[in-house]
Amino acid sequence: MKRVLNFIDGQFRPPCSGRYLPNVNPATGGVIGESAESGPEDVDAAVVAAARAFDSWRRTPAEERSRLLIRVADLIEENFDELAQLESEDGGKPIALARRIDVPRAIRNFRFFATAILHAETACHITDDRALNYTIRQPLGVAGLISPWNLPLYLLTWKIAPAIAAGNCCVAKPSELTPLTADRLAALTLEAGIPPGVVNIVHGPGGSAGRALTSHPKVPLISFTGGTKTGADVMARAGPLFKKVSLELGGKNPNIVFADADLEQAVATSIQSSFANQGEICLCGSRLFVEKTVYEEFVDRFLGATKKLRIGDPQDATTDVGALITEPHLRKVEGYVELAREEGGTILVGGKRPENLPERVADGYFLEPTVIAGLDCQRRVMQEEVFGPVVTVTPFDSPEEAIAYANSTRYGLSASVWTQDLQKAHRVAAAIESGTVWVNTWLLRDLRVPFGGMKESGLGREGGFESLDFFTEAKNVCVKL
Ligand code: NAD
Repeated sequence: MKRVLNFIDGQFRPPCSGRYLPNVNPATGGVIGESAESGPEDVDAAVVAAARAFDSWRRTPAEERSRLLIRVADLIEENFDELAQLESEDGGKPIALARRIDVPRAIRNFRFFATAILHAETACHITDDRALNYTIRQPLGVAGLISPWNLPLYLLTWKIAPAIAAGNCCVAKPSELTPLTADRLAALTLEAGIPPGVVNIVHGPGGSAGRALTSHPKVPLISFTGGTKTGADVMARAGPLFKKVSLELGGKNPNIVFADADLEQAVATSIQSSFANQGEICLCGSRLFVEKTVYEEFVDRFLGATKKLRIGDPQDATTDVGALITEPHLRKVEGYVELAREEGGTILVGGKRPENLPERVADGYFLEPTVIAGLDCQRRVMQEEVFGPVVTVTPFDSPEEAIAYANSTRYGLSASVWTQDLQKAHRVAAAIESGTVWVNTWLLRDLRVPFGGMKESGLGREGGFESLDFFTEAKNVCVKL
């Protein structure tokens, strides 16, 4: 039984409450440990430590910060197997996925921002012969970083790395459902030589530890990734304190397949974009739209590929689909399948808990990959984020209709478009209301590009220099000539 403590000022400390939350392995339903149930006092202690460390960290030369961050990346790499194992046990995700996506991306996040700060430039504006203006970018102080459970280490490091690379210190609050890799990361930052107080990690529920961070007067900046409803609460608390806020929220992403697409590739990638991580990725393409002339052929092939997915023990290297994060979440997703039936939809495949699971995972929170047809775009299942292995398929007649369907939700995170017609690809990509449009691919991530959502999928952009801009404040210095 692993007990996860807070990491404050370079030390592992129990929460002030003395209470712990059970940590459940979603694949077995068994308790594998517990994590600190922190509240405002713990957050305050972490903020004090971070503010103290900021004085010298902000003055540490970029080359030295870079060296330390690269050391963290190296240590994540040295502990690759253990981290993948922890991520899989904690979140129910297939270990193969943790090895392919989660841990490699955590390494990349640290390497990327460690080197990015060595290439940062600032602007200079010359006002005729009267003045010289230059811009300096300065870290803000204590960054509050709040991350979800679906890609725990991947998203936590996507925030910690740029925050501290830019010279801030941070208080991070990972999801209470997946504390294990954050806990290991804390130890690795210490081993790497990151000074005490630069990285602090406080565990606990969003309502207490998370809110304490968003409403803390000494935390001038909040980077939040999670659900749209939570994002609104973060904004409501941070707004009156004029904090800088970045929100990466939910999605209901369209995946549009035109008749001229390479169907083989479109099917193979759409299987990933529908069901990777049990559909628990904000970027999953949960609404498939297929041009009418190839609809039947595409759906046939897609259903065939769905049925071949191996659902089972996440620790088995051949498993494609693991367990959903919690039992209530599984029930919520099942509720949407039921709602789809009531709304007139047809379940083409899946829709139920799998039978004949290996004994070790017989009590886990599994759901078969599910494909639903026959729903109108305005139905709730087509409008709300399900966040499970559930995808809808809908035929369309023209690019205009596909665009209208794609834009018919309040979300705008990402989209995929499949076509071999270059002009159509550019035209449709420009018309879709989302922060990212992938053409003939999905989840291909260059860390330099702006990443974020339109509409209710978020506020602001992270990635590359956008992240470094967010984690610093621009100051204009005007010198009269
Ligand atoms: P969530 O909003 O419930 O929780 C996210 C984090 O916020 C957790 O650490 C939680 O403890 C904390 N939290 C909860 N209530 C809070 C509050 N009132 N104040 C401050 N913090 C609070 O989301 P989740 O269920 O952990 O994650 C799933 C959601 O995240 C999905 O909607 C998904 O689309 C979204 N997501 C978005 C992105 C993106 O990049 N846009 C990436 C991954 C996940």
